[in-house]
Amino acid sequence: MSRKVRVRFAPSPTGPLHMGGVRTALYNYLFAKKHGGDFILRIEDTDQTRYVPGAEDYIKEALEWCGLIPDEGPSNPGSCGPYRQSERKEGYAKYAYDLIENGNAYYAFDTPEELDVVRESAKKMKMPNFQYNSITRTSMKNSLTLSAEEVQAKIDAGEPYVIRLKAPRNEELRMNDLIRGWVVVNTNNIDDKVLLKADGMPTYHLANVVDDHKMEITHVIRGEEWLPSAPTHFLLYKAFGWEETMPEFAHLPLILKPDGNGKLSKRDGDRLGFPVFPLEWVDPKTKETSSGYREKGYFPEAFINMLAFLGWNPGDERELFSLTELVDAFSIERVGKAGAKFDTDKTKWFNQQYLRMKTDEELCALLMPKLKAAGVDADEPFVTKVCGLMKERAGFVEEMMADKFYFEAPSDYDEKTIKKKWKDDTPAIIEGLRKILVNITDFTEENIETEFKNYLEVNEYGFGKVMPGFRLLVTGKGMGPSMSAICAILGKDEVLSRIDAGLPKVEALKNA
Ligand code: GLU
Repeated sequence: MSRKVRVRFAPSPTGPLHMGGVRTALYNYLFAKKHGGDFILRIEDTDQTRYVPGAEDYIKEALEWCGLIPDEGPSNPGSCGPYRQSERKEGYAKYAYDLIENGNAYYAFDTPEELDVVRESAKKMKMPNFQYNSITRTSMKNSLTLSAEEVQAKIDAGEPYVIRLKAPRNEELRMNDLIRGWVVVNTNNIDDKVLLKADGMPTYHLANVVDDHKMEITHVIRGEEWLPSAPTHFLLYKAFGWEETMPEFAHLPLILKPDGNGKLSKRDGDRLGFPVFPLEWVDPKTKETSSGYREKGYFPEAFINMLAFLGWNPGDERELFSLTELVDAFSIERVGKAGAKFDTDKTKWFNQQYLRMKTDEELCALLMPKLKAAGVDADEPFVTKVCGLMKERAGFVEEMMADKFYFEAPSDYDEKTIKKKWKDDTPAIIEGLRKILVNITDFTEENIETEFKNYLEVNEYGFGKVMPGFRLLVTGKGMGPSMSAICAILGKDEVLSRIDAGLPKVEALKNA
């Protein structure tokens, strides 16, 4: 019988979640939902030296912002808890001792100083990366080289020790990766990883594999940086006799810097001109702030859509996918091996697409608080109309209020337009237009447009003779959305008063 799909996102709370981490969470989520399975959040916090306060809350908040709600996790535990490794730390030791019992692990008593000496002498012999492995272990201080009595005596005397995995000598491991296909590794290349540290705490490898087993994880979907750990994990499953329920593995491609040169890392922060974190993060120690997509004005839907495409594609031309549509379209087979280049412009493009999909009312609701914060007083019906007009031109909600002229009469006027388009007869032409505007009773976009055209036609004026000057008086600018639309939004009185106030000012500027 096939098992219910269960996947986990297992971040370590060592800082803010990088966007690569969010993508890992996303692919796990999509895979789980696609197969009617569970998406689990597990906090891997056994290494207390790297623990950063606030990081776990940050991770949860980021997932929530993205709509990737775990089915089980520290905040909503299921039956496989606890979901924080620090809360089950004592439980792991037993598994390490089980492996000693069945001959797949051993005690190692080498002190850190002794290991340093060995590393140094290996370096001198031109072997810079000393490995504690199936060859070197035969000359180290461990339960494979010492007699049972010696080992017991050391343990009784309270000598510190670690427990190491005993990697088999010269065996070929064949592991299937759902993205990379068959990965073949000779066990001679696998070192004897520490499973239990001298303080009795498990290492990542032990805790990770034990938890995946206990939480009945069926698929491990994680970043490429964990690929080198996979053989150790594979050996651990064998050593525990858990091959039957061993999860399938999928190692996701790296996310690369925009120029393709190397991995986009946490340390890139804002250095490359865009955020690498979903939410803003203030480092608790240095107080340094790193920007986040949320605070930069990105919609979570756009952020998720963009991330989905960093490593996956649907195999056709479609690019816009809601989270539900992604669930439908996603398949792990369509995730590539090659690193995916991050593209800032594309990310902005996604945001723009999502902005356009929103109704004017939705955009108004998002813009109102920003206007208020900027001290702009405007009512909702008015702002809704501004949003309707601006949404084709804006990539972010904030940009819809960039044009101040909607909210107040212009105080300065574009110099270039004055120089190029403001001619001696412009004031008279605009006075003529003003008379027409006064007589429009129903001041709608259509009516204004009709009267504009009429005025041009009757007087045989070209568009460029009237519009730039008129636009300048009403908006202060040389370019922008349709003037009939702007006028309709502003209302007749406001337009007329801007003409009246602006004419002498622009004339003065022209002659200055
Ligand atoms: N705790 C590891 C991390 O921080 C988990 C890796 C894995 O998914 O096995 O990414």
